[in-house]
Amino acid sequence: MNTPENAPLPTGALTLEAARRLAEREGCTVTPTWCGMCGPRSNCAIYAFAKEGRLLRVAGMAEAPQNRGGLCCKAHAAPQWVYSPDRLAAPLRRTGRRGEGKFAPISWEEALDRIARALKEQKEKFGPESLAILSPARRDYSEYLYRFLVAHGSPNYAHSGICAMQMTFAFHYTVGARPVPDCRNADVILVWGKQPVYSGPPLGGASALADARARNARIYAIKPSLEADGAYATDWVPVRPGTDAALALAMLHVVCGEERIDRDFVQTWCYGYERLAEHVRRFTPEWAERVCGVPAAQIAEMARTYAATPRAAIDFGNGLEHAPSAGDALRAIAMLMAVTGHLDRPGCNLLGKPRFDRPSPRSVHIKGRYTRDWVNNIVGPEFPRAFQPFLEGTSACYYRIFQNVLEEKPVIHAIIAPGTQPSVSTRDPRGVLRALEKVDFYAVFDTHRTADMAWADIVLPALTPYEIDHPFLERGPLLMARRRAADPVGQGRSMQQIFLDLGVAMGYGEEFWHGDMEACMNWQLEPPGLTMRDLRAQPLGLRAPACERQYERYAETFTAQSSRLDGGPWLEQGKVALYNTLFEAAGFSPLPEWREPAESLTGTPDLAQSRPFILSDYHTTRCFSAGWQRNVPDLRRLMPFPMLHIHPESAAALGIEDGDEVELRSPHGVVRARAELWPGIRKDTVMMAHGWWQGCAEMNLPDLPLLDGGANVNLLYSPDDKAISDPLISAMGSQTLVSIRKIREN
Ligand code: SF4
Repeated sequence: MNTPENAPLPTGALTLEAARRLAEREGCTVTPTWCGMCGPRSNCAIYAFAKEGRLLRVAGMAEAPQNRGGLCCKAHAAPQWVYSPDRLAAPLRRTGRRGEGKFAPISWEEALDRIARALKEQKEKFGPESLAILSPARRDYSEYLYRFLVAHGSPNYAHSGICAMQMTFAFHYTVGARPVPDCRNADVILVWGKQPVYSGPPLGGASALADARARNARIYAIKPSLEADGAYATDWVPVRPGTDAALALAMLHVVCGEERIDRDFVQTWCYGYERLAEHVRRFTPEWAERVCGVPAAQIAEMARTYAATPRAAIDFGNGLEHAPSAGDALRAIAMLMAVTGHLDRPGCNLLGKPRFDRPSPRSVHIKGRYTRDWVNNIVGPEFPRAFQPFLEGTSACYYRIFQNVLEEKPVIHAIIAPGTQPSVSTRDPRGVLRALEKVDFYAVFDTHRTADMAWADIVLPALTPYEIDHPFLERGPLLMARRRAADPVGQGRSMQQIFLDLGVAMGYGEEFWHGDMEACMNWQLEPPGLTMRDLRAQPLGLRAPACERQYERYAETFTAQSSRLDGGPWLEQGKVALYNTLFEAAGFSPLPEWREPAESLTGTPDLAQSRPFILSDYHTTRCFSAGWQRNVPDLRRLMPFPMLHIHPESAAALGIEDGDEVELRSPHGVVRARAELWPGIRKDTVMMAHGWWQGCAEMNLPDLPLLDGGANVNLLYSPDDKAISDPLISAMGSQTLVSIRKIREN
């Protein structure tokens, strides 16, 4: 949706007519469908070409409004992913010790029966809350996981604590919605903690920045390390990892102290301005410079430029969600938008996404069943119980599910990992593996071999999105069926079908359409008056007209009802919560504060003597999302080894050259990586990619150890929940201090 309709089509994009001509010429089939290579979820529409039921390649769908034929490099590697030697082809039962990796194939009937027996027994013995499902980021099947948990009676949906929900919570409870940057109309853009080139590139983030640059917009890139996005930035603001709250508070200090505010907006629509202004007096740019490493003059200049420019937007990203003061940073950023009058005006941050004139299909979630008892049974809540359920439903913190298993009297006795790999996805991999040894029942449902599958009692094989004909997807104006483009590998089933079948095996068949996926989708499509048959008859899906955008919808947004059980508003006073009375009543700070990361140059200076570099990690790189797809040769060729971005001068001081193998040592573990000399990174900071463990059989690259000696960056962070987590939104810090030494020359 972000891509302008009159822009030239990307190279390689095809129309339906061209795709059909090509397929005819090459003697293959072509299927309009959705890409399935995205870690989070499908966003881009494709034409999939196959011969004799085997996927050959894909091309971007030129007619699709959101990607207009654009695809990232992951999309083109789909056939290698589908036919990887790592694919799971049959249900498996563990036959060896946990962690040993010995399995025997079993039938679907036996596998579902074993899972259902274990869950029923535990429900009876320990209560339904004894089951936790680990969230695999946001996927096209996430609502099915929630439905299963609710039908079972458990509130323990375990969110990662580092992705999307943290910022969504902070913004809703400060300005009533998650504001969307209107970069296409902005003259100043602060790209903060975000990598717009590699994350969701076809969705238009990068093209919006390129357009802005062509208009001579000023673009600040606020992050410790610049990558391809450096090409769009006019200014680099090299903030230390995990210190964004200090930077944002200092910007508020400048804006409030110099009265660079929109007085009318503040008087009419903000609550608690005087207390905020008083509070931020102590967060001077000079103080912030010591903490976050950004020169005081640059902080003040950026704050003044943002405040003085009528069309100025903040494009915030996932990098802001990984620190013990993440919630404070996000709230302070929301306050900056508000007090400077940059909310819901053209070129600023808009309250809410564009709307389309079509009733939305039903969700399969059954949120209406939540009660106070339900909320009380959450283990290690992601957000305080007073604020549960949040938008998606009740949520536990992923990391705390494992901590609970390790406690003397655990609540959690069964864990299902559907498309997620806890030993590389969350903090304290040692603790995760100990918990997987100890938990009574562990099941893995996935398309491919996973990092911790060897600990599972039962493994179920899932199909990739290219092998299934569901679910339909709604993205922006487009509602389009997913179509099967290739024959299924082995005996796999879709993740949606697995949860329907498990529901039936548990005796919840009434709530799971008795396992009939078509009936489930037809029920979902009732509000727009459609059936799957209707939708499949439209090769390019159905497009809804856009509703006209209204600006300055303050009264409507600031009084909107929350998702809490009490149904009260997000904003108690019907105004922007500069001073948050809801948080205060629940025992949290009403104003944004500053907390040091667990290990940092300014917070633990003694440790910095022996471990002089700040380490943090990227969740998305140019070819990988999180822990996915290291087994795909075409992607792996682009990034064959775990890399460490290090500034050339810092490397030279350690005698390290490009490509040398290095060892990183934190107080918590030791990992190895290849040095990649990177001029666009702070000299006191190094960055790795998250999620490394998987080998690539086609390239003779072996799996890496999950613990010491591998490249699992989570091993290096503190496992102390209190020290690493934001007390309100459970954001987990991804900062520590490391020493680095060369262990092998390139
Ligand atoms: S961003 Fe890339 S992997 Fe994700 S849906 Fe689009 S093309 Fe596919």
